[in-house]
Amino acid sequence: NVRVRFAPSPTGPLHIGGVRTALFNYLFAKKHNGTFVLRIEDTDQNRYVEGAEQYIIDALNWCGLEFDEGPQIPSSEGMTKESYRQSERKHLYKGYAEELIASGNAYYAFDTSETLDFHRKDHEAKGKTFIYNWHNRLKLSNSLSLSADEVQAKLEAGDDYVIRFKSPQDETLHLQDIIRGDIKIDTNILDDKVLFKSDGMPTYHLANIVDDHLMDISHVIRGEEWLPSLALHYQLYKAFGWESPEFAHLPLILKPTGKGKLSKRDGDKLGFPVFPLQWTDPKTGDVSRGYKEDGYFPEAMVNFLAFLGWNPGTEQEIFTLDELIEAFDLKKVHKSGARFDPDKIKWFNHHYMQEQDNDVLAKAFKSAHPELEPIDVNYISLVVGLIKPRATFVSDFWELSSFFFAAPKTFVEKAAKKAWKDDTDAIMKEFVSVINNIEAESVEHLQTVVKEWITNKGIGFGKVMQPLRLALVGDLKGPDLFQIMFMIGRDATVRRIELAID
Ligand code: GLU
Repeated sequence: NVRVRFAPSPTGPLHIGGVRTALFNYLFAKKHNGTFVLRIEDTDQNRYVEGAEQYIIDALNWCGLEFDEGPQIPSSEGMTKESYRQSERKHLYKGYAEELIASGNAYYAFDTSETLDFHRKDHEAKGKTFIYNWHNRLKLSNSLSLSADEVQAKLEAGDDYVIRFKSPQDETLHLQDIIRGDIKIDTNILDDKVLFKSDGMPTYHLANIVDDHLMDISHVIRGEEWLPSLALHYQLYKAFGWESPEFAHLPLILKPTGKGKLSKRDGDKLGFPVFPLQWTDPKTGDVSRGYKEDGYFPEAMVNFLAFLGWNPGTEQEIFTLDELIEAFDLKKVHKSGARFDPDKIKWFNHHYMQEQDNDVLAKAFKSAHPELEPIDVNYISLVVGLIKPRATFVSDFWELSSFFFAAPKTFVEKAAKKAWKDDTDAIMKEFVSVINNIEAESVEHLQTVVKEWITNKGIGFGKVMQPLRLALVGDLKGPDLFQIMFMIGRDATVRRIELAID
């Protein structure tokens, strides 16, 4: 029975790396008819950011990654709505920490931060790293170095303490990762991680393991940055006597250059969003760009993210969410970092643009341009259908189509030079009289009559079509000219040609 969880900490907006983690969890769950759980890991009150949880939920919803259980969806037996937020489960964790103390797998430590700082600096000065472990723990102040009475006295006096995991000496751990295979770790390099703090809150490690166990999580799929925690997590499962879930650590997402990890700050520096949705920092008011507001379609985002660290092993690149579920295989996820290519998501967006409903696009286009206010949305929808093969974003539409709505205000100089020759005035005057006589029934009809006239006249097509395009569009580009003439109608066509002749 597959049960996976996405377990973000609400310390700010969800980075696209986080969305990729959520996506891979979702795909794996759906592939195996499993359950996708959203759990909010908010035990670190100092890093809690207002609005971040809602942002995470909004981002998942936008991408269509629906979760089966989570803060706003009460579900599994015995779980209340609150049960998916660690801050609201905090009464649970202390007992588990105490259980580990009782079984000899954890201990109280009373060292002040000054003491620990002193040891760190002292080691640093000697070119070493201070590790709180078997080698050093007896020199420090904890329930392994002090007598039972001393410990009791400190606890009764209300001294600050933490509970640390007691990592064993001289053992080799064999860890398993679905993507990375066998990993061997020498316990001598591990430190005795803090599990529980004196503020009454568990650390990430303890809460994460306890919750994965209580929530019956079968597979933990998360970013590579958590790989160093795997040894501790393995040992915690062992210490509790619980069956451990399987683990899969997803590869890092690299900067577009391929060098170094993509960071939250790269977006502004490199000129592309690193967040799915726009985010306004509640403290500073700073706004970070989001893919949604930048005009990306969620299908493009999902398809793009799916290929960050995975591919189906075939040529196929375009996948709906359902097709991804079908094709996804955790074993095919790569170990090495995945380069983030902002041009590739544009490519996907261009593709998905073609699949959007023209009426929906037309409404979005219309609401972004006050000039379009008086224009019938059906007409705009037809225009959108004509120009979208060239568009990546709705924000490209105006530039590609303004001539469908109004005469060009200016002519591009180079284009005018190229198109308008000495004999053009005369030709275009004659052309006006020709189209004044056509009752065009269709684009094809218009095209046939005009082409016939040009052929009979014995001049090159360019002699008519180029100045005509300049007159109607203002430049020598754009979609099919007959299409444009037919759409804007005879009166507008004639008016624009006459304007160009003057
Ligand atoms: N709360 C952790 C995070 O923010 C979860 C890591 C995990 O999935 O174990 O990424």
